Amino acid sequence: LEPLDVGAIREEFPVLQREFDGQQVVYLDNAATTQTPDAVVDAMSDYYRESNANIHRGIHHLSQEASIAYEEAHDRVAEFIGADGREEIVFTKNTTESENLVAYAWGLNELDPGEKIVLTEMEHHASLVTWQQIGERTGADVEYVRVDDDGRLDLDHARELIDDDAAIVSAVHVSNTLGTVNPVAELAELAHEHDALAFVDGAQAVPNRPVDVAEIDADFYAFSGHKMAGPTGIGVLYGKRELLEEMEPFLYGGGMIRKVTFEESTWGDLPWKFEPGTPPIAEAVGLHAAVDWLEEIGMERIQAHEEEIARYAYERLEAEEDVEIYGPEPGPDRGGLVSFNLEGVHAHDLTSIMNDHTIAVRAGDHCTQPLHDRLGVPASTRASFYVYNTREEVDKLVDALEDARQLFA
Ligand code: PMP
Repeated sequence: LEPLDVGAIREEFPVLQREFDGQQVVYLDNAATTQTPDAVVDAMSDYYRESNANIHRGIHHLSQEASIAYEEAHDRVAEFIGADGREEIVFTKNTTESENLVAYAWGLNELDPGEKIVLTEMEHHASLVTWQQIGERTGADVEYVRVDDDGRLDLDHARELIDDDAAIVSAVHVSNTLGTVNPVAELAELAHEHDALAFVDGAQAVPNRPVDVAEIDADFYAFSGHKMAGPTGIGVLYGKRELLEEMEPFLYGGGMIRKVTFEESTWGDLPWKFEPGTPPIAEAVGLHAAVDWLEEIGMERIQAHEEEIARYAYERLEAEEDVEIYGPEPGPDRGGLVSFNLEGVHAHDLTSIMNDHTIAVRAGDHCTQPLHDRLGVPASTRASFYVYNTREEVDKLVDALEDARQLFA
């Protein structure tokens, strides 16, 4: 694979040239949100300047143009993740809403007391809290596949939990805290052996690696535009066509119906059945541009670059005796982020010192509180990498640890 021209890529991101107190931004908070290249901003601004209108195929030129752009964004995303056409791509607000859509539209209607919702101990609150609530409301039990001490799923435990009582298995593809890449195809197969559905949270996978939903054989797959060089305000729910066809809608309103009388309503075609009201049209245009931008670079090269930077960060941090790193060793089942703690320094203090150097990292539980309980720490500091990051930026991060030691040790 040809290495990325990171210098040229960085020029497409004006925000990366910004300085605070005379120091250039070192942006290592990509698991929270990625930066947006000019191509995406331009596509959205061109849309607003030249084609803005409401969709649903109004009669006038602008509405037709906006409708086509919106529909084509579905086609582009479908192609990007190996889905079987726009009918399988529902635009939501974000990954969280994609999770809630399935939880409400499928879970509330289909789950019975005594059935099982199988999650993993490394789920993001977006899935964990949502399914917990659905469990309370339906009487279904929520069970968690254990994470072992290396930060990997205990697959024997998964085989134990996923039995004929299991109705749905929901797993994070790449953990936003541990960086673990989970064997989601294997989990989906286990789920299907027991007639359960497989939901995959791909918020940290689609931005960083080639993903093919058909290969994984996921029934549902969710991700967010803002973590893949796209805009905020748009997320994706992939769902197998026959499942989406059978499912009740999640939200009701205009644009999703076929026929409405004072007594009753029937639903429109996929995916519009799940997209009532005025959807995120400009954001869909931006997401389309983001997918074009990512594919022009190539997902394999993006993955290789990020994993190389993450490996370098892991090795440099591991060489510091007072640093504890969470998650598996660098390798095929570890993605492009590193969460860690510096002995004797709270993650919030460390992150604040990083900010004194204009280094953007995240401190906290990263929306995985139960996982942090499992790790026995209240919080961690997370550095997460993207196409534009460099080894020099990792060096700055590691150098800044010395300041924290001097201040707090
Ligand atoms: N799942 C994972 C694994 C995530 O990393 C995130 C974002 N931190 C989410 C879900 C939620 O994404 P969003 O905030 O865009 O809904």
